[in-house]
Amino acid sequence: MPDDLDNPDDLDLLDAEICDCRLCPRLVEWREQVAATKRAAFRDQEYWGRPVPGFGAHDATLAILGLAPAAHGGNRTGRIFTGDRSGDVLFAAMHRAGLANQPTSVSSDDGLSLERTRIFAAVRCAPPDNKPTPAERDTCAPYLHRELALIRPTLRVVVALGGFAWAAFWPALRAVYGVAPARKVPFGHGALWQADGAPALLGCYHVSQQNTFTGRLTPGMLDEVFTRAKALAGIG
Ligand code: SF4
Repeated sequence: MPDDLDNPDDLDLLDAEICDCRLCPRLVEWREQVAATKRAAFRDQEYWGRPVPGFGAHDATLAILGLAPAAHGGNRTGRIFTGDRSGDVLFAAMHRAGLANQPTSVSSDDGLSLERTRIFAAVRCAPPDNKPTPAERDTCAPYLHRELALIRPTLRVVVALGGFAWAAFWPALRAVYGVAPARKVPFGHGALWQADGAPALLGCYHVSQQNTFTGRLTPGMLDEVFTRAKALAGIG
């Protein structure tokens, strides 16, 4: 199990370890099958087809936690939220907020860099129907815990994109910070949880097409979340 919090190593080493992971048979089969069959629009591209590690600053003050890579997004490009519509919306908002140097994220060599921000997912492999099983979520959780342990010295705020990421935060909080809320904290867009000695958690609807195409999550709502997250994180 990838759960050695006492020897967290370096983020680059963790990323490399994640990229070689094959612990979840169903997800390994799915990510590789998608990479082999491809979507017609990307048939000339070589898919990544492996776990997708976190991306961004090693001394992040702000973290953005998603659900899992998209089959033809991160699973194709090898970078989280890169090459799909969700990423288009997310990185445009991060650019407006001054957290990304460019508004687009199309490939792993497109020059994107993040300002004091790291972005990662609760599950590192693309799951069928974007739905990891509870066992897959739990198997992958130690990678999130180790990543949080590595950026703990600077981390002040975590933005959870959607209820799955929100739920994945609490076991991480217990594992890394030894902190647990007294009662269950429900997810909501704009929900905020704070405690001494732990990063604040801010809820945001997921940047899925289902939310952005229907107007449930608008660019203005994302701007408000990042303005608030930056204030909480002390990013000027
Ligand atoms: S989901 Fe996580 S634990 Fe499972 S194979 Fe992918 S990287 Fe490994």
